[in-house]
Amino acid sequence: MQEAHTPLSDIRARIAQAARIARRDPAGVTLVAVSKTKPASAIESLIAAGQAVFGENRVQEAQDKWPALREAHPEVLLHLVGQLQSNKAEDAVRLFDCIHSLDRPSLLTALAKAMDRTGRRVPLFVQVNIGAEEQKGGCAIADLPALLAQARTADLPVQGLMCVPPAGIEAAPFFALLGKLAADNGVSGLSMGMSDDFETAVMLGATHIRVGSALFGAR
Ligand SMILES: *Cc1c(COP(=O)(O)O)cnc(C)c1O
Repeated sequence: MQEAHTPLSDIRARIAQAARIARRDPAGVTLVAVSKTKPASAIESLIAAGQAVFGENRVQEAQDKWPALREAHPEVLLHLVGQLQSNKAEDAVRLFDCIHSLDRPSLLTALAKAMDRTGRRVPLFVQVNIGAEEQKGGCAIADLPALLAQARTADLPVQGLMCVPPAGIEAAPFFALLGKLAADNGVSGLSMGMSDDFETAVMLGATHIRVGSALFGAR
């Protein structure tokens, strides 16, 4: 019997194809299913289809949606992919298994404190403002070495770098730049690529891709 085509199986096949071309092991790419704005029922369907890693971009929304899902599916992992206010750091450390949006010294201090208080060590990605866009979150490229040094001093588990490239232009140069910054700074994880460009990201070394609308439909 042929397996039914679903958005999830299609995305997995496309990840595998991009990885094959780049001579990478597809197992080195974690698909984070970004479920922001989507109801628990849609998340349940994806869990039933075998998806085990999800992403949300707001602490409050995740606090509303996830406690029940977590209880029903303790094996599922939840990542925070959106900006984080320092006063929500402890909530985030309690709720999420990975945080992709560390981007400033004050948040680093708040996360370190929250990890001490909760006894949880949550892996972090440092978000880089890769296109030097004024209104965008992320640490400036020039500030990255100092932020990473501060994280090392605080013994925080930094797993890699994350970016959201500028909209409307080719993403590949920005993905390549993030890869270079990671190599230059001695971190290995690369959280990059979304619905429109995850194959490019996989070919350029992404270890985590964050895919929302291509899995769940338009928001
Ligand atoms: C919403 C979001 C995504 C997923 O975007 P899609 O284009 O729907 O795949 C990825 N990363 C971040 C930071 C997001 O906020």
